[in-house]
Amino acid sequence: MSETLCHKYGFDEAARRERLALARLGDDDQALAVLLREEVISPHVQQLVADFYAWLMDFPVASQYLQSDEQIRRLQQTQTDYLLSLGQDFASEAYFERRLLIGMIHVNIGLPLSLYQCAYGWMRDHISILIHQSPALNATQKLRLASFLSRIMTLDETLATESYHLERVGELEASLSSMARERAKLSEQVDRDSLTGVASRPYIMRRLEQQLGRTPPAVFSLMMIDLDHFKDVNDRHGHLVGDNVLREVAGRIRGATRDLDLVGRYGGEEFMILLPATSLETAVRIADRVREAVAATPLHTREANVPMTISIGVTQSTPVDTSDTLIGRADYALYQAKEAGRNRVNVA
Ligand code: GH3
Ligand code: MG
Ligand code: MG
Repeated sequence: MSETLCHKYGFDEAARRERLALARLGDDDQALAVLLREEVISPHVQQLVADFYAWLMDFPVASQYLQSDEQIRRLQQTQTDYLLSLGQDFASEAYFERRLLIGMIHVNIGLPLSLYQCAYGWMRDHISILIHQSPALNATQKLRLASFLSRIMTLDETLATESYHLERVGELEASLSSMARERAKLSEQVDRDSLTGVASRPYIMRRLEQQLGRTPPAVFSLMMIDLDHFKDVNDRHGHLVGDNVLREVAGRIRGATRDLDLVGRYGGEEFMILLPATSLETAVRIADRVREAVAATPLHTREANVPMTISIGVTQSTPVDTSDTLIGRADYALYQAKEAGRNRVNVA
C-alpha cells in the first residue's frame, strides 16, 4: 500500500489534534458542520459550483489549465463533493487526507498557489452570503455558522497550502540531489584517467599542490615512471594492444603501491606517483617493488603477451620546492635511468 499523505507530511494523530486546536475547532463544531451542509450548502451546491466556475473562467491564469468541457465537468464534480464534505467529520484522518490531496494535485498540474487561495476566498464569501440569506436559520445560528465557516475554511486552506509547499520542496530536493549525483559523476570523470582508471593529471597535480602548500612543510616523495620502448609495442602490435598494455601496467603499479600512494597518469605512457609522508629511502623501496611488478612477467592482453619494463625517477620534497622544481628533479632522475640502460630506479 502506498504511503498516506498524512504520514508523508507529518500529520500523525498528535499533529492533527494540534492543528485543530490552532484552528479553534472542537467537538461542539461537529453539529455546526452538519447544519452548514443541510441548511446552507446542499440546497445551493449546484448554483454555487456553477457561479464559481463562471467567475474562474474569466481569468486566463485559470482557463489555460481548464481546457476541455469534460475536464471542467470532472472538476465541478470534485468541487461539489468538496463542498458537501466541508467540515464533515473534520477531526478524522480521512478529512486531513482529502485536504492535503488538494495541494498536492495543484502542484502536479502546475496551478499557481495564488489562484486557489483566491478561490478559497471566493468560496468563503459566497457561503457567508448564503448563511445570511438562509430563511431556516435564526440569528444565533447564523453567527455561529459564520464563525465555524471561517475556522473550517482556514483549516482547509492551511492544509492545502502546506501540502502544496511540501510537495514543491520535495520536487526541488529531488532535482537538487539528481544535480548532485550528476556533478559527482562529472567530477569523477574529470579526476580519473579514462583509459587506465588511475588519477587524471589535473587531479594528481591538485593533490601535489596541496602537499606543497602544507604548513609546516611535510616531507613526501614523488616518482616519475616511463614505459621503456613503448613505441615498439605500438609499432609491432598496434595501438589497441598498446592501450591494453598501458591499462595492465597501471594495474600492476597500483597493485605494488600502498593505499595512501596516489597513482596518476601524467601523460602518454608516463605515470606519476605521489607518496605522502614518505622518505626517499622508503620511496626507493616502493619504486623497486613497482619496477619488479611490471618486469616480472609479460603483460597479458587478449591479443598478445608483451614483455615490458619501466624506468623510474624518484625524489623527495624539500621545503623550498615548487611543483616545477620537484617534477623537474624526478624527470631528471628518470632521464638518467633511461641513459643508464632502462628497467631501473634512479634517485635525484
Ligand atoms: P623510451 O624507452 O625512451 O621511453 O622509449 P619509448 O618508445 O617509450 O618513447 P617515446 O616517447 O618515443 O614513445 C612513446 C610512445 O607512447 C609514443 C606514443 O605513440 C605512445 N603513446 C602515448 N600515449 C599513448 C596511448 O594512450 N596509447 C598508445 N597505444 N600509445 C601511446
Ligand atoms: Mg615518454
Ligand atoms: Mg617511454
